[in-house]
Amino acid sequence: MTSPIGWGLIGASNVARQWIVDAIRAQPDSQILNVLSSNEERGARFATENGIPAHTTDIDTILTDANVDAVYISTANQFHCRQTLAAARAGKNVLCEKPVALRVDDARKMIDACRDAGVVLGVNHHLRCNAMHQKLRQLLEAGEIGQLNAVRVFHANFLPQALQGWRINDPNGGGLILDSTIHDIDTLRFLIGSNPTHVMAMTQSGRLAHDGVEDGIMVIMRFPGDVLVQIHGSYTVPFSEGGVEFYGSNGVLIGRDCMSQRAAGRLFMRNADGEKEIPVHHHNLYHYALAAFSNAVRGTGQPAATGEDGLAALAIALAIRESALTGRQVEVEIP
Ligand code: NDP
Repeated sequence: MTSPIGWGLIGASNVARQWIVDAIRAQPDSQILNVLSSNEERGARFATENGIPAHTTDIDTILTDANVDAVYISTANQFHCRQTLAAARAGKNVLCEKPVALRVDDARKMIDACRDAGVVLGVNHHLRCNAMHQKLRQLLEAGEIGQLNAVRVFHANFLPQALQGWRINDPNGGGLILDSTIHDIDTLRFLIGSNPTHVMAMTQSGRLAHDGVEDGIMVIMRFPGDVLVQIHGSYTVPFSEGGVEFYGSNGVLIGRDCMSQRAAGRLFMRNADGEKEIPVHHHNLYHYALAAFSNAVRGTGQPAATGEDGLAALAIALAIRESALTGRQVEVEIP
């Protein structure tokens, strides 16, 4: 079933420019009608460069437009909650960037507002849309490596110059945990199928980030079934390759180069028979996310990551931050 979906972009952002404009246009009968920027000139440039027919500095121009069915919110993190609540009140479906909000109670308000308005809320945790992770999940669910014992996640890179803004200098909305580690958390929830019960973390700061903003992290977590998980994340490590390793009672599953925005990743299984590569048929992660969201708007299925997924990832990320700040193990509560 297809019916037209008119989109408004809330935020003239890098991620919209690089990935989402194309992903929306890859969906059947979907059109971008307007883009919001707080800066007139930036909005005009974004609209021209991306072939968008209108731009505005007033969110109500988008929210009162009857042709707009859905908004994509990719402003800086502290605006996600307020803009989602306004969009829900106006009856617009919302695809919101991660972190869904900065506080768990705000995330809950966003979920409730979208539910009450009868609109879809999706959160753009893109890594669960990677075909390699989807294949890995199938193999884990099928018990291919037996009982899960431990997991390691490698997600370190060097933050490109162009992104060295709010991520490294804003103690409220920035920092590695809510920007990057939260993706690892969502991916782990997706792959393991549960939430961690306890977390501990240590962070680094000062190599790139300042004002106490973290730019490196090591996390350990305990998942149900006494599964131990370790994450290394960083903004300051060049030449690293993202990956995951799942250790089971009968074998190991290894994902390489699978923590980026690209349709990439190679999957290997090692057991008593030796090591073999598992074929993966890749697709564009953002096209996949936008297809799931568009179907949900049209009444079929759910977004790849729901508001509840966004809330759970946020609650775990905040528990990790608390552990790093206090030096203590933190029990995870997902309200
Ligand atoms: P940007 O810094 O590009 O955009 C965030 C906001 O900053 C924009 O809405 C814009 O405001 C403002 N801005 C953009 N360019 C400038 C500039 N030159 N000078 C001053 N302000 C500017 O952020 P990202 O695209 O990296 O991230 C946006 C959101 O998307 C975040 O929530 C982030 O966590 C998320 N994200 C998600 C990814 C994913 O793959 N799921 C990947 C990257 C980011 P205005 O709109 O008012 O013009």
